[in-house]
Amino acid sequence: MSEEPAFKRALLKLSGEAFQGGLEFGIDLTMLNRFASEIAEVAATGVELAVVVGAGNIFRGVNASKQGLDRVAADYMGMLATILNCVALQDALEKTGTPTRVLSAIEVPQICEPYIRRRAMRHLEKGRVVIFAAGTGNPYFSTDMAAALRAAEIGAEVILKATKVDGVYDSDPVTNPGAVKYERLTHMEVLRNNLRVMDATAISLCMDEDLPVIVFNLLETGNVKKAIMGENIGTRVVVE
Ligand code: UDP
Repeated sequence: MSEEPAFKRALLKLSGEAFQGGLEFGIDLTMLNRFASEIAEVAATGVELAVVVGAGNIFRGVNASKQGLDRVAADYMGMLATILNCVALQDALEKTGTPTRVLSAIEVPQICEPYIRRRAMRHLEKGRVVIFAAGTGNPYFSTDMAAALRAAEIGAEVILKATKVDGVYDSDPVTNPGAVKYERLTHMEVLRNNLRVMDATAISLCMDEDLPVIVFNLLETGNVKKAIMGENIGTRVVVE
């Protein structure tokens, strides 16, 4: 394994569910601290790292809207919920001694900075982990879309999409023991076969911007660093 990171700048997407750990809802502090130490280890390699955090552990707009809440209101609630996760992650990261900034697409000036692209780039250049909160700031989108958008905006070379399984399969490996894992896929194959990597809007943007996505298992300790160091883990989604 080479000592140098394989990427200069990368964006890590953590789902809200990952924060939930063994809980029914909310933030499992043991998991939070584990992710923070993994991220700290990666930041120490010198890679410029941005993180987008979801909110499925707290609130998902689309679910609430199915139960009768106005979709736009529900999505704003989902975006606000991401801020909770981001503030928690910032705290855990700073306890490891890793300088971190939270930049939010919805302004909450008492809590974090507003999202300003140039500011985000400056923080990254200074070696701070940048956490993007509140998704894209727009309803009807997801935090996967926010990951694709921010990665494109800041010129990240890769999106590391952390999940609960060790890559992309042709069917659900939890229910089908014969499911086959893909080593490599194109964005177009993901779209055509409706594979569950990211939502179609997010994958389309990655395809247009030639942004590779590495899908890997976050629950295996050390995987974020392996992905950053260029080790062959999970599934790689590439343009060609
Ligand atoms: N959300 C939104 N716009 C965005 C990003 C997120 O409206 O740009 C809302 C949406 O309601 C979503 C919720 O925030 O359900 C939480 O995000 P997501 O479901 O992507 O979280 P994850 O699945 O990664 O935990």
